[in-house]
Amino acid sequence: MAKVKYYYDSETLSYRKIKRNKSTTFKYVAVFLTAAALFGFLMVFIASQYIESPKERQMARELQNMELQYELINKRMDDAIAALENVEERDNAIYRLYFEANPIPTEQRRAGFGGINRYKKYEGFDNSKLIAESNKRLDILEKAIVVQSKSLDEIAKLAEDKEKFLEAIPAIQPISNENMTRMASGYGYRTDPFTKVRKFHYGMDFTAPRGTPIYASGDGVITRADSQSTGYGNHIRIDHGYGYISLYGHLYKYNVKVNQRVKRGDLIGFVGSTGRSEAPHLHYEVFKDGERINPINFYYGNLSAEEYDILLRKASLENQSLD
Ligand SMILES: [Zn+2]
Repeated sequence: MAKVKYYYDSETLSYRKIKRNKSTTFKYVAVFLTAAALFGFLMVFIASQYIESPKERQMARELQNMELQYELINKRMDDAIAALENVEERDNAIYRLYFEANPIPTEQRRAGFGGINRYKKYEGFDNSKLIAESNKRLDILEKAIVVQSKSLDEIAKLAEDKEKFLEAIPAIQPISNENMTRMASGYGYRTDPFTKVRKFHYGMDFTAPRGTPIYASGDGVITRADSQSTGYGNHIRIDHGYGYISLYGHLYKYNVKVNQRVKRGDLIGFVGSTGRSEAPHLHYEVFKDGERINPINFYYGNLSAEEYDILLRKASLENQSLD
């Protein structure tokens, strides 16, 4: 039961009951409820600032876990970068050096991406720096892998070219050792067999019986197989490319035709004594960029160190050439 309240009426000099109407009661209730609600919200708000809810705790743990995972991923990136650095070092110091390609400078290998706005999208969070830095490192790593991959492509191409070059240059003796009677005369000043005058002999003479096989000393194309060059008699010229030409003189017979492509070691003709020749032998010359050079400097293809030594000694004796 609600308390009954009275007031003193000075006109009637008596106590009278206070009558409350319904609208006043309603106002009181509304004001009370509003105040209570506001106070409640305020309390919840204050509490939420200082006390974690179970859901918040869960999220905090997830965030912590994510940061930990980022750190682990960064460590793995360190390992990947270290492994790549090792490959890059070998690339510069061995492979590129071997193929005479310029080393790729570190600035070029480690170049990031230009523009500051690239990592702007990660800004505005507590972990912005961690995420932006991780992305930056991954970008640099990806770019470095691309640079390294391109370098290897370049080296593969250079290796292929070098292999072709090594197969092309005249690098073997054109007559097999078993068939050779002797290395008669080398490159240098020799006595002319006909005039007995000391003059420069621009090739090497290999003495061998008529009909002994002659082999191409490197890959190339036959450019001459005729006797239209003074002194050489029946002769063959092979264009090896890269500025190299080899010449085989005084042949008895040809085994190739002009424009024919030959491989190193292919049988191209037979020893004879045609042209300005004293006895059956092969006169062999090597041209580099139009100059006749000493063929002995190229016999690394099929001779052992001892054989090369013997050949070198015989070739340097100043004797009479067979021309
Ligand atoms: Zn000669």
